Amino acid sequence: MKAFDYAIAENRAGALAALKREYKPKAGGIDLLDMLKERIEKSEKVVAIHQVKDLKGISEENGALMILPLTTLREIGESDVVKKKFAALSDSCLEAASPQIREVASAGGNLLQRPRCWYFRSQEFNCLKKGGGQCFAVDGENRYHAIFGEGPCHIVHPSNLAPAFVAGRGEVKAVNAAGEERVIKADDFFVMPDRSLYAENVLEDDELLTAISFPKLPERSAFVAIKEKQGFDWPIASCAAALVDGKWNVVLGHVAPKPWRAAAAEELLAGVKEVDNELATRAAEAAVKDAEPMSRNEWRVALAKASVRRALLKASGKEWI
Ligand SMILES: Cc1cc2nc3c(=O)[nH]c(=O)nc-3n(C[C@H](O)[C@H](O)[C@H](O)COP(=O)(O)OP(=O)(O)OC[C@H]3O[C@@H](n4cnc5c(N)ncnc54)[C@H](O)[C@@H]3O)c2cc1C
Ligand code: SF4
Repeated sequence: MKAFDYAIAENRAGALAALKREYKPKAGGIDLLDMLKERIEKSEKVVAIHQVKDLKGISEENGALMILPLTTLREIGESDVVKKKFAALSDSCLEAASPQIREVASAGGNLLQRPRCWYFRSQEFNCLKKGGGQCFAVDGENRYHAIFGEGPCHIVHPSNLAPAFVAGRGEVKAVNAAGEERVIKADDFFVMPDRSLYAENVLEDDELLTAISFPKLPERSAFVAIKEKQGFDWPIASCAAALVDGKWNVVLGHVAPKPWRAAAAEELLAGVKEVDNELATRAAEAAVKDAEPMSRNEWRVALAKASVRRALLKASGKEWI
């Protein structure tokens, strides 16, 4: 592990002052410490923000849900309000990692975790995303890489929360070291590598995530993850489906560099509230029709398709396995 300066922020002002001095915020630290150990994260300054009290909690008011970013995956997954009002979000947390990790991992850190591409995570490979000259996944081991998107980097976004965040038409609030606040809609938060090769979202280094909110709760929703092993591991395909304001939002996870909105499936479902098996199957086919698998990951197209069908049936209260 590389040595780094360590500070503990007691409140939001302390955290922002540290960010201004180029400290990297640590919430649960699950990903950040990995990145430091792997020497991929180069920061020499870390500020722990876990003691900042007004960054933790869940509240529901006037049909809107607010999750503060230090709330853990366990707290969100087990929250009665979230279970009842936004099942996809609750399930996305309960399906992530292991009980021990969910106890520590925060919602904000989950959305902001870095990709798991094994070339990115290894010091041995100076790939495009780290400023090198090539993407090793193109001609290399790419079975867990993207089946959507045109590169030049072919990561899959690793977050379980991210598809539910996008399907629920969420937004985040961020504040920078100068105290300027902004709200970013989920659809604008994550970015493709052709727009931003080195970062997976638009949050600036001096910005602190201060809230994750859902202005209009879904009438129905579900999250389905398909994993290689059902113990702790990232899914190999997932889907969050949510009926918000009378419109289905169908978002694939773990198959593209960002949560992947299945626009063709959403179009097919226009005007429908409850999805039956026939429509779910057609929507699932539409969702993957533009998939462009790499040399070794075509097998994941069928899994992405299955996750869409299952999520729509589950959200509609039908038999889904
Ligand atoms: C074995 C294993 C299995 C896993 N399986 C899954 C899985 O199935 N699904 C899944 O989604 N994840 C999985 N994970 C990843 C894990 O859930 C994430 O690493 C974790 O959620 C990150 O949260 P954290 O609070 O620890 O973030 P940290 O590691 O503290 O931070 C992550 C990043 O976010 C930044 N950050 C954190 N909070 C803020 C904030 N408020 N404002 C600005 N920046 C901030 C940090 O600077 C850092 O860059 C797994 C991890 C392991 C080790
Ligand atoms: S997929 Fe992205 S992170 Fe992985 S090797 Fe290619 S450029 Fe690097």
